Amino acid sequence: MNCPVCNKKLKTITYQNQEIDICLKCGGIWFDKGELIKVVNNLLSKNEVDIQTVKETYRNKIISPDKVKQLIRKCPRCNVDMQLYNYSYDSNIILDKCPNCNGIWTDEGEMQAVAKYIRGNPTMDSYAKSLAGELTKYQKGRSNKWKITAVIISLFYLVIIPFFKGSEGFFKILLFLILPLGCIFFGEGLGSTTGIRFRTTFFAPVITKPTPGFFVVFIGWVLLLLPVWFGILSVIGVFN
Ligand SMILES: [Zn+2]
Ligand SMILES: [Zn+2]
Repeated sequence: MNCPVCNKKLKTITYQNQEIDICLKCGGIWFDKGELIKVVNNLLSKNEVDIQTVKETYRNKIISPDKVKQLIRKCPRCNVDMQLYNYSYDSNIILDKCPNCNGIWTDEGEMQAVAKYIRGNPTMDSYAKSLAGELTKYQKGRSNKWKITAVIISLFYLVIIPFFKGSEGFFKILLFLILPLGCIFFGEGLGSTTGIRFRTTFFAPVITKPTPGFFVVFIGWVLLLLPVWFGILSVIGVFN
């Protein structure tokens, strides 16, 4: 096999109990499928990897591989074009990967960078995790308040409506309430508190963008408040 960068013959050596192919000129290393992570894990288990700095751990922009200016390299095994990819999506370590054999080429220092990335910064990670935990608790508390409000509105209906519509009205409104309360109580289970990332978004560890769950809860509220809208409309005489 030849180096995809300088075309020199790669030398097979044993490193961290793993056979790897290294270019003695540029320091690049070829890893067959699955070898990179084995080498990295060996390094980590021997405590031979520095921890990341805070800045390295929480850089906030993810580099897109198609923004990287680098010549396309050929896989030293299969001679097909390799693809650039951001290791683990957000490490900002841009490696070359062969789409055919799944081997990985690392330029000099990139393998160590991967190890450092995986080791991370345990102190800051645990800090970010506890911060994210606090925010999740806060969000849960907030959504509980809305659920309690929904229950109070429902109880209000159940007390008020029998005065106008008797016991039949009571059971009708009871049946009616199942759907909106179901939406409000279980809608957010559809995925509103996913998307927690610690590494790249230190200052906003919890991403809360509208999800299907958000819309289900919203529809629940529209339904729950329908009797109020109808009440208001009939009071102002729209139905007369
Ligand atoms: Zn080379
Ligand atoms: Zn290949």
